[in-house]
Amino acid sequence: GKNPEEVLKKYLQKVRHPPDEDCTICMERLSAPSGYKGPQPAVKPDLVGKLVKCSHVFHLHCLVAMYNNGNKDGSLQCPTCKTIYGVKTGTQPPGKMEYHIIPHALPGHADCKTIRIIYNIPPGVQGPEHPNPGKSFTARGFPRHCYLPDSEKGRKVLKLLLVAWDRRLIFAIGTSSTTGESDTVIWNEIHHKTEFGSNLTGHGYPDINYLDNVLAELAAQGITEESLAQEKD
Ligand SMILES: [Zn+2]
Ligand SMILES: [Zn+2]
Repeated sequence: GKNPEEVLKKYLQKVRHPPDEDCTICMERLSAPSGYKGPQPAVKPDLVGKLVKCSHVFHLHCLVAMYNNGNKDGSLQCPTCKTIYGVKTGTQPPGKMEYHIIPHALPGHADCKTIRIIYNIPPGVQGPEHPNPGKSFTARGFPRHCYLPDSEKGRKVLKLLLVAWDRRLIFAIGTSSTTGESDTVIWNEIHHKTEFGSNLTGHGYPDINYLDNVLAELAAQGITEESLAQEKD
């Protein structure tokens, strides 16, 4: 890929006179050189940059180090306010996402049918972007079925989930919080409803806040209808 300085330059303005504040990545003053202790990127430790959308200021050295610790997908997330620069992608392993309409209503959504999403991810071997490259990973409970009301808002969530899937943000490889198993496929930070017809697990309906909550979780990954419209321009 491109070198990180080239990527970050698009999102930054140089700051000639750093404010009298700490860099929240290394906790040193911005007027002093970066105190970042990890592998040293090839950037002068005293350069300071301002992120163009949110105006938060950091050592350039610290931002490059942070970028190098991520999946280096060309995007950057402000560590202070979580504003996303570029298109954030994840490390979801290969698989399939399908959906169809089923002619039944969900509890709390009596006036419409239901969208059933089917995720299928087979077990495999971890890539360089995963926690233990070269080691195998397990994939439990697939195919996983998830449900949305086939309403205007439900269809909007579906459309954004399809984008999240393409950006590899729905699943990750890690340690299961329910079983403690490591090197397995886990949900990422976008909650899904996996129970149909009841809500015994807390992952079902009715849940009047669910669609708004999942829209907020998608927005936190940089996926909103507004951002998709902007990216097309
Ligand atoms: Zn710093
Ligand atoms: Zn910020």
